[in-house]
Amino acid sequence: MKVKAIRTKLYQWRGPVKTTDTIFATPLSALPFQDDAQAPFRFFSWLVVEIETDEGHVGYGNAGLCPDITKHIIDSKLAPMLLNESPLNTEYLYEKMYRSTVAYGRKGAVLAAISALDIALWDIKGLVMGQPVFMLMGGRTKTSIPVYYSRLYTRNLDSLQTEAAHYKAEGFTGMKLRCGYPLTEGRAGMRKNIEMVRVVREIVGDEVDIMLEAYMGFNYAYARQLLKELEPFNLRWAEELLLPDEIHNFAKLKESTAIPLSGGEHEYTRFGFYDLLQAKALDIFQFDTNRVGGFTEAQKICTLALMHGVEVIPHGGQMHNLHVVMSSFASPMAEYFPQTEIEVGNEMFWYIFEGEAIAENGFLQLDDKKPGVGLTLKKDYLDQFNIIDKLYK
Ligand code: MG
Repeated sequence: MKVKAIRTKLYQWRGPVKTTDTIFATPLSALPFQDDAQAPFRFFSWLVVEIETDEGHVGYGNAGLCPDITKHIIDSKLAPMLLNESPLNTEYLYEKMYRSTVAYGRKGAVLAAISALDIALWDIKGLVMGQPVFMLMGGRTKTSIPVYYSRLYTRNLDSLQTEAAHYKAEGFTGMKLRCGYPLTEGRAGMRKNIEMVRVVREIVGDEVDIMLEAYMGFNYAYARQLLKELEPFNLRWAEELLLPDEIHNFAKLKESTAIPLSGGEHEYTRFGFYDLLQAKALDIFQFDTNRVGGFTEAQKICTLALMHGVEVIPHGGQMHNLHVVMSSFASPMAEYFPQTEIEVGNEMFWYIFEGEAIAENGFLQLDDKKPGVGLTLKKDYLDQFNIIDKLYK
């Protein structure tokens, strides 16, 4: 069996975008003079990759991280490497793509491109073997997947409480809110961030896990003080408090707090995660399989994490991450972005793919009989997208 053709499709959303008081700290909001510090971190496009074999299988992969650049890397560099190769040699093909791009790759868009192709190759492997990807990677380690609700974007305290109470009533036992006030608002902003956590804890009680997302928005001094003042609220974790390269400062923070620290949403490959482990920087890894190096690399990081007592709770839900969660003892739960109106960009996969798992009572289930990743392309929303398409064969 050989790879016969590779198609990349850039889905650009041109439908309505919900504009509310959605706001969150970002790396840019740590700087003064920012009119819209969220803008560069909202992605209103998504990349779909299709790999076709000479025996008629089509595997789907995807990338949500800077999809336009990712597409260009696949079209110009990676697609020619895969043509006429056996799609089942995933270990070899990952290594071929990684080593061919290592001079300018290693992290970021190049790894997102490799990941998208690796996911599509595993999808083919599943179709050929007649098994879901999680069965090929180790099978079930849990009867179903617990998920936490990833939403609570508002800064309005009443709305926060209403939303949080609603998710709890729907059966979710964990939920994540975003720091609404940036570093530049100093002490007063920190008090407001703490107040956001306090009102959510007040409404959901002690039995629900609360996670706090900082999206790389703070510095060491701010984060240390924030963690100290958050101690009474029993957070499940504090997420991405610092820039991903501040591994040494994460390690110092971890020494100074009892609150578990999570990160790695913007880290790449087994090498990046090995550095985090060596530094004892984090308690929870949150790679996204469609950035970190696909299933091939995600499996290796799970093994490393398991050995070091670090949990893996991938970024973003979606089928490519759910197969990893289902098949690894390192991973106790998944993130769940519900299908909503397009607001930040994360929601877009619901409008592109058919077959994403839907949470019920705080759990997701994967189908033992659905081979591969389990996704196809939706037709319902095609008129809401502009699609830029390229075929390499
Ligand atoms: Mg995050």
